[in-house]
Parts: sequence; C-alpha cells; structure tokens
Amino acid sequence: MKQLEALAREAQSFSVADASTSSPMVEQPVRWIGNAPRGASGDTPSQAPKPQAGTLTGDEAEVARVMQICNACRYCEGFCAVFPAMTRRLEFGKADLNYLANLCHNCGACLHACQYAPPHEFAVNVPQAMARVRMQTYTDYAWPAALGTLYKRNGLALCLATAFGLALFLVLAVLMAGGLFHEPMAGNFYAVFPHNTLALMFGAVFGFSMLALGVGVTRFWRNVSPGAASGAAVAEAAHDALRLRYLDGGHGKGCNNADDAFTLWRRRFHHFTFYGFMLCFAATCVATLYHYLLGQQAPYPMLSAPVLLGTAGGIGLLIGPAGLLWLNIKRHPQQGDAAQKPMDRGFIVLLFLTSATGLALLGGRDGGAMALLLAIHLGVVMALFLTLPYGKFAHGIYRSAALLKWSIEKRQPNKLQLGSD
Ligand code: SF4
Ligand code: SF4
Repeated sequence: MKQLEALAREAQSFSVADASTSSPMVEQPVRWIGNAPRGASGDTPSQAPKPQAGTLTGDEAEVARVMQICNACRYCEGFCAVFPAMTRRLEFGKADLNYLANLCHNCGACLHACQYAPPHEFAVNVPQAMARVRMQTYTDYAWPAALGTLYKRNGLALCLATAFGLALFLVLAVLMAGGLFHEPMAGNFYAVFPHNTLALMFGAVFGFSMLALGVGVTRFWRNVSPGAASGAAVAEAAHDALRLRYLDGGHGKGCNNADDAFTLWRRRFHHFTFYGFMLCFAATCVATLYHYLLGQQAPYPMLSAPVLLGTAGGIGLLIGPAGLLWLNIKRHPQQGDAAQKPMDRGFIVLLFLTSATGLALLGGRDGGAMALLLAIHLGVVMALFLTLPYGKFAHGIYRSAALLKWSIEKRQPNKLQLGSD
C-alpha cells in the first residue's frame, strides 16, 4: 500500500508539472486548489480564457491529473472500459481525454471504491471529472456552436421555452383557422394540419437535427482518430451500447446512485427510455409506409401496428424519463457535475412531455379538443427534435462512438504492454 501511495504521489506531482509545462498549447500554468484546477490568475475553469485548439482546459487537465494517479494505482481496472483504455497511454492529450470522458458511463463505482477519493488529499473523483469534460465535448463539437453553448447554460429553461413557444404558435394557428374546440373528427389529424404541411414542418426539423448531430459526431470521430473498424469491433460496440454494459458496475450488480449501494434501476430506466423512443420512432416509420406504400391514411385503428407500437413506446417513454428524473434528483452530488443537471433534466422532461401529450392525444383523438391536443403535442415533439443535438441525447451518440473506438483500439497491439487487456 505504501508503495502504491508513493507511486500515486509521484503521478500527481508529474501531472501538475505536465499541466503547466509539457503541452506547448497550455498558455497559463495550472495549479491545484483543492479538487479544482485554476489558472494563474485564480480563475475557476468556467472563468478561464477560452482554450485554443489542442489546449487543455481546466476540466481536461483535471481528468489528465486523475488518470495519471489511476495509471499508478489501477485498482479499478476491471470496472469498465475506461481503465484498460487508460493503461494504453502514459500521457493524455485533448483527444484522449475527450474519448475517455465519453467512454465513462458515469456509473460512480470507481468513486466509492477509491481510497484516494475526497477527503483524501489526492481528491480523485473520476466520475465528476469525466462528467465535466463530457459536457464540454457536447459544446465543443456541437454545430452550430452558439446553440451548443446556449443549451449548455440553460438546458431546462431552453427546452421548456422552446416547447411552450412552438406549442403556443401552433395553438394560435389552430385558433385562427377555426377554433380550438370542434365537433368530433374521428381522429382525422389532417383536417387540422394538412399532411403536406406536417411532412414539411417535421422534415425540416428532423433534417436539421440529423445534420447537426452528424456534423458533431463526425468532428468527434475525426478528433479521436480511431482507425478502421472491423465487423467484429462494430458488433461488439453495438452490443455494449444496446445493453448499456458499463452501467452494471463491472460485476453485474449495477451502478451507484444515491450512495455506495448498487442499483440496476439506472440501467433499467435508460432501457425503458431508449427502447420506448425507438418504438415511437418505429411507429412513425410504419405509419409513413402505410401512407406512401399502402395508400392508407391516418387515423389508424387502435389495434393497428402504428398505434400499438406508439402506445408501447409511449408507456416506455413515461416510465423511463420519470425514473431517470427521480434518480437524477437523488443522485450523490459527488458522482456527477451539478452544472450538468439543467441539461439532463431538460432532455428528460421533454421526453416525458412528448410521451404524455402523445398518449393524451391518442386518448382524446375522438373528442372535441383533438385540435388543441394535437397542436400541443406537435409543439413538444418539434422542441424535442430541435434540441436533440445539444442535450443529453447527444451523449448516447458520442458514447457509442467512444465504445466503437475502444472496440477498435483493444484489437490493436498495445505498444506499452503495461495493461492487463
Ligand atoms: S479511481 Fe482511485 S482506486 Fe480507482 S484506479 Fe483511480 S486512484 Fe485507483
Ligand atoms: S464512473 Fe464508472 S464508467 Fe466511469 S470511469 Fe468510473 S467505473 Fe468507469
């Protein structure tokens, strides 16, 4: 143990020296005050001057510091992919840190297992340090960058304001076209908004969303430069992403949330949310096929494929986000980054509202308030898609890309031959 402490101390002193001298792009020396790296002027990371390409930010330098210590310790090597990926490196550049931060699933296991966690003077907190850099990557790689920054600062408020604004706009459009309440229309949405108008509106929003996400993940992928992917690497990464393998804590009992007890509920609520979202997406795709291939127009019967898929997905999208919000509120403050909560909650709340308004529309589609329910639901769905590239949805895309990089990397020879993989 004493030998380990000596190694960790050495690594810590190296990392301080590294952060201040080894990278020619670091413009200010970094000194450590408690757990937070600060610039020479005493600025906190968020107040520090914006870094240039290749410069380590204060949050990245903190991850580099804890990785140096972990590389000397290696107690958590079997917990997740972050530690074996770490052992393939002796130095941590910006691209490595962005990659490792997105490879971390924030399960919290290494915080509760760590003998160097606060209040130890080394103040090693891997999940929190990783969470800060992860959030920064969503902004750094976002396109357009200004929207990423706006969302980062005001995630929850921006989500709610966008949803409210779009829903209000559509409600006013319905009001001006003839009134919010009407004789029952047997669920004929196209009597309120013509099919081509809906296709144009949602095609534009969906297209923008996919373009922004595509640009962001392409930037991330190029930056981490992983090399060519084999079929086996792609299959393994897809398997790990779809199963959320690294939310099992490395032992199958689950991750930590409120304390050091293991729970599988974070993984389960993520699965409810993800598969609920995919079922709703499948319902839309099947309805599109019905419309264009079979010539069958909505409304579809309650036992038709689009309605059954949408209902099952909607229920999953109620349970999953409600559970994730509950876990988010109870989360141990040291496991994550408090500044990220508005972003997390903004996405969770929008998902919940999308599902709640969708199911309300399904329940009320034969009634006299169908137009009002439709306008509200469409406004919320548009807000969800507009904010997808900048919020918590992006973490799934970047994390999948990081998992693929790890699957590629672990199949390559380890030049250091120091790790156990
Ligand atoms: S998190 Fe702590 S216990 Fe785990 S490898 Fe790092 S220093 Fe060691
Ligand atoms: S928080 Fe979990 S996923 Fe992240 S580095 Fe620690 S053990 Fe790995």
